[in-house]
Amino acid sequence: MKIQPFTFNPFQENTYVLSNEGQCFIVDPGCSNRTEEQELVSYIESNNLKVKAILNTHCHIDHILGNAFCCNTFDAPLWMDSRDLPNLRSGKVLSDMYGIPYQVSPEPDLLLDDQKTIKLNEHELELRFVPGHAPGHIVFINHSLKWVIAGDTLFQLSIGRTDLPGGNHDQLLDSIRRELFSLDDDYEVHCGHGVSTNIGFEKKHNPFLK
Ligand SMILES: [Zn+2]
Repeated sequence: MKIQPFTFNPFQENTYVLSNEGQCFIVDPGCSNRTEEQELVSYIESNNLKVKAILNTHCHIDHILGNAFCCNTFDAPLWMDSRDLPNLRSGKVLSDMYGIPYQVSPEPDLLLDDQKTIKLNEHELELRFVPGHAPGHIVFINHSLKWVIAGDTLFQLSIGRTDLPGGNHDQLLDSIRRELFSLDDDYEVHCGHGVSTNIGFEKKHNPFLK
């Protein structure tokens, strides 16, 4: 399975395309203008990928700006955790507040709440529920390649903010300790913002988790 990162929109959000043998997932499509949309389309087309689903780690506005574009353009379903539906549904209010153009996201086609794994061909991703930054935040783990798409839970030397609706600082720390720090030190962490890191480095140096 290959990971291709893109950094999109005024919030510098990381969108990831996870692909394997002609199929892909788009995680947190943040494309917010023609240029960014075209960048994503070019990648998908030049690699002859069929988009199996759009996945949201959580539904803050910077992670869903491209949901509608991607679902429509690639004729793909939206998969997410139901506990982030309030965030998904407040997208329009927030985008208006920030003055960002936003095509309202469709409602999810599949709720991942009770799903332990999802598959791209024979490659499996484990899902873990990691509330704290957002109430319905999930992460996607590839155990065979030892990486995790962590959304806005853990960043290099930082953690996600917890001052937005449904956020809870202690819950976020618990989620990171239980669901991420239980992974081996050499698991790579692909974050929703900024550079990638790994579990061992964050266990040792992250000031929020000492
Ligand atoms: Zn967020």
